Amino acid sequence: MIPYFPEALTDFSKPENEAAFTTAFERVSSQLGQTCPLIIGGREIYTDQHQKSRNPSDLEQIVGLVAQADKSIIDEAFQVASKTFATWSQVRPEERAGYLFKAAAVIRRRKHEFSSWLLLEAGKTRAEADADTAECIDFLEYYGRQMLQLSERGKQTLISYPGEDNQLEYIPLGVGVVIPPWNFPLAIMAGMTAAAIVSGNTVLLKPASQTPIIAYRFYEVLKEVGLPDGVVNFVPGDAGEIGDYMVDHARTRFVTFTGSRDVGVRIYERASKVHAGQIWLKRVIAEMGGKDAIIVDEQADLDLAAQNIVNSAFMFSGQKCSACSRVIAHEAIYQDLLDRVVEKTRALTVGDAVNANTQVGPVIDQKAYEKIKYYIEMGKQEGRLVCGGESWDKPGYFVPPTIFADVPADARISKEEIFGPVVAFTKVQTFSDAIAAANNTEFGLTGSVFTTNREHVEEARRTFHVGNLYFNRKSTGALVGVHPFGGFNMSGTDSKAGGPDYLLLFTQPKLSSEVL
Ligand code: NAP
Repeated sequence: MIPYFPEALTDFSKPENEAAFTTAFERVSSQLGQTCPLIIGGREIYTDQHQKSRNPSDLEQIVGLVAQADKSIIDEAFQVASKTFATWSQVRPEERAGYLFKAAAVIRRRKHEFSSWLLLEAGKTRAEADADTAECIDFLEYYGRQMLQLSERGKQTLISYPGEDNQLEYIPLGVGVVIPPWNFPLAIMAGMTAAAIVSGNTVLLKPASQTPIIAYRFYEVLKEVGLPDGVVNFVPGDAGEIGDYMVDHARTRFVTFTGSRDVGVRIYERASKVHAGQIWLKRVIAEMGGKDAIIVDEQADLDLAAQNIVNSAFMFSGQKCSACSRVIAHEAIYQDLLDRVVEKTRALTVGDAVNANTQVGPVIDQKAYEKIKYYIEMGKQEGRLVCGGESWDKPGYFVPPTIFADVPADARISKEEIFGPVVAFTKVQTFSDAIAAANNTEFGLTGSVFTTNREHVEEARRTFHVGNLYFNRKSTGALVGVHPFGGFNMSGTDSKAGGPDYLLLFTQPKLSSEVL
């Protein structure tokens, strides 16, 4: 395989990087408020209805407007995607991978522009935006290489049999629907799309309604590198109008979804029904929510743990599926750890993501803001508020990092996904109690353990039931190709995005056997 190493993050302490970012940000700022069309088969479609995308740090600022697909447009997109599948599926894997490598090169050259869009549309700080852009580049580079490997794999894996030429080929599925979330609006959106198309499928890409502009900018890159029309059809729209319709459509061969538990379950259920004219069973790849715990043992580096808790819980305002939202600590170090975490949390700078010194920006929208406020009120009943807790007024959706102490392991704020900067501390008496508490939710996405006790490391490895288990490091920040990502139970189908098996989900193996 061509060597692959994750994209380096930008060091903003270097004046040349800061200057390059500022130049890119100014360029992007001059493009705000433009209208982005739908794209079907390369054709731009402007609709009467538009959706406004706002900056969550400053609601007055319109980042852009985007056309809205309705059901008839979705029908047209399916027709074009089906027709294009006939040709695209025959394109050699090397050529398909080539488009991803070129797209990665374009985004790498213009990475600060993409990060600027993330700052403005998703409210990411520049460090978080830079990481999102880097991860997008990684997905493109990695899935391109994975496709090259997969195309060779069929020839290598079969047992040779005298007098026969046997081949296993991983062929694409058909037309897929790509439904990404807003919280990694570049990396996850691009990764899901790239995996689907590099495997030979064509897609309808419906971006999250909070972040359609960044998705459109990604589409523009695919166009720039010459991806044939109709391979990716860009169909932003109201999920209430077109979501079920796309999932139910008889031409849908697979749905790749990343988002909340409830929407994921709905898609999973609906996709299981076979509709008139449908000649396959739909495949659903669903990556859903989490309720991620960090366990801190009696024997642990408490300062290291505290720093990583703050980082995992509050960066991007806790709006990562892998964000730490529970700390389960041994009683011997509980108070000491809590004091350290509170001190570090109080030192965080909360504010407009545009400001270079902001560490915690806004939450994404009014719905998220209200939901987090609701859980903060619940936390006041279920635990003891020790930090944050009051929500801020507009112009943006700001919620200060909030910590509750002495929360029972079975409280609602210990078990339900909040998706905001809120952490519940729980005290336990033994390491086994800590694991049992961490496992007591319906999710199973990520978890971290801080301990220097080797036996406890092995115990956690055996019994902590999460898809991504980390020791003595943060629960966020999985690297493509290094930490394949996905969770158990109601965290989804454990697709392990960014892992060596991911593309298998977008293909079906075909065996041919020729007697010689
Ligand atoms: P969401 O509300 O479930 O939305 C995700 C996507 O689903 C959006 O594009 C949304 O479109 C679409 N959608 C909504 N209803 C639909 C329907 N009936 N049919 C088809 N599509 C529909 O999730 P979110 O708020 O964007 O993202 C946050 C959630 O994602 C959290 O729970 C987080 O844990 C999870 N997440 C998981 C992972 C992972 O890898 N496990 C990674 C990132 C995020 P609209 O925007 O138009 O409603």
